[in-house]
Amino acid sequence: MSGTRIPAELRLRVRARAGERCEYCLMHERDSDFSFHVDHVISEKHAGPTEEHNLCLACPECNRAKGSDIATTVNGRVSRLFNPRIEEWKDHFVHDGAVILARSRIGAGTIRLLNLNNPTRVATRASLMQEGRYP
Ligand SMILES: [Zn+2]
Repeated sequence: MSGTRIPAELRLRVRARAGERCEYCLMHERDSDFSFHVDHVISEKHAGPTEEHNLCLACPECNRAKGSDIATTVNGRVSRLFNPRIEEWKDHFVHDGAVILARSRIGAGTIRLLNLNNPTRVATRASLMQEGRYP
């Protein structure tokens, strides 16, 4: 979700930093039929800058589900979404096989909003795991 054009060189740096993996669900871009997106962690709608420290690589599913959101609710309380620039994935999520479980409120809200455990996505991750390609 971007209004500002992100320079190609900056896109390459973000993609390389992420190891070509979605920074939310950890899918590798080579395992997707679609190109991954360079996403504003804090969307431009919420004054997030188009700078390296506010950009991440996201698969189309995560990017579409996240949209311009920066927070959601968990048990009725506002909870910001996981920010791959300021925290570690493993502090908020853990794998149980191909399912991603929350280790925090931030993780729980992010899993739900980004639809990380949609049955199709879990099935895709399970088959990639069997081939040693995920995570
Ligand atoms: Zn993803």
